[in-house]
Amino acid sequence: MTPTPLLSLRNLSRRYQPGGPAAVQDLSFDLAPAEILALIGPSGCGKTTTLRMIAGFEEPDSGRVLVEGADATRIPAEKRGIGMVFQDYALFPHMTVAQNVLFGARQKDAASLSRHLSLVDLQGFGDRYPDHLSGGQQQRVALARSFAAQPRLILLDEPFSNLDAALRSAARREIRRLLKATGIGVVFVTHDQEEALSFADRVAVMRDGRLLQIGPAAEVYDRPADAFVAGFLGRTNLLEGVADGAECATPLGRVPLAQRASGPVRISLRPESLTISLAARDADAVGRITGVEFKGHDMTYWVDCGGTDIQVDAMHGPRLPEGASVMLHVTGSGMPLAPQD
Ligand code: ATP
Repeated sequence: MTPTPLLSLRNLSRRYQPGGPAAVQDLSFDLAPAEILALIGPSGCGKTTTLRMIAGFEEPDSGRVLVEGADATRIPAEKRGIGMVFQDYALFPHMTVAQNVLFGARQKDAASLSRHLSLVDLQGFGDRYPDHLSGGQQQRVALARSFAAQPRLILLDEPFSNLDAALRSAARREIRRLLKATGIGVVFVTHDQEEALSFADRVAVMRDGRLLQIGPAAEVYDRPADAFVAGFLGRTNLLEGVADGAECATPLGRVPLAQRASGPVRISLRPESLTISLAARDADAVGRITGVEFKGHDMTYWVDCGGTDIQVDAMHGPRLPEGASVMLHVTGSGMPLAPQD
């Protein structure tokens, strides 16, 4: 028997103005106990509205919110037992960092305080007041406070947005470890694809209030349903071709497919699924380098292949010059995409 989902959304819809566009339309998904789910999509696609309906700050026009199988749709926010960290952090200004973190905490001892402060790299900040903290530090206090309360489910709105790159990556790893150890489930909103892929177990991609695709992070990245999802989760090449089962004939030659298809298709081929080398003779070349971007550990080449622009990611190595005639080799597989509106 599968366990009761921690959270279930059933056909949730919300329209802010009668007759206006739906902010969220017929949205359904389940969150398993202790699962971390990212809601990702462009600005205005309905992520925050979804989070607010789960929290109980926004009432859906139709549909239901179930928490551990029980209907919570009409239950007030404070009675849902859901933790949350929204964009304004809402720290208590008259309380120190320590008092903020321990407010509502299950364990109020010094060891628990120290554990939660070190989780967000704020050891030694316990006696400060929120107005003496930077935006990023306030964000981390808000995160520590929500974890210390140990709710079953936490909602996070752009949880790492105010942290610099190095701190963000460390915080993600530490917090993920804590969530997995304590079994707290999370729904978080982001428009950062790297954050969605690295922090979440599953990713839900939204557009115009609708859910386009939900699945494990690697699956949604490797097998995007359509060109929008493919492009939103990373850079990709879209190639027109003709599929015959496990392969597709494209302007780059035959490309193995991640999923069988037949007839004319459009496929997504990630830049890391190709390698590039100098053509020994012009006759062997499939294209010419039109742009090179050095990014530290790797490079991106733009290659004009008979009018089609192809991006190739290559590990840092000898730099190929712009204008060079090159050969491309497909080393990964392409994903056939559903047609889009
Ligand atoms: P962002 O990434 O920019 O925060 P989002 O994906 O969280 O965006 P929402 O804030 O859920 O999107 O907004 C969804 C849609 O609903 C948008 O078109 C937005 O303009 C509209 N909307 C949101 N809040 C309100 C409101 N209080 N009144 C009217 N319309 C609203």
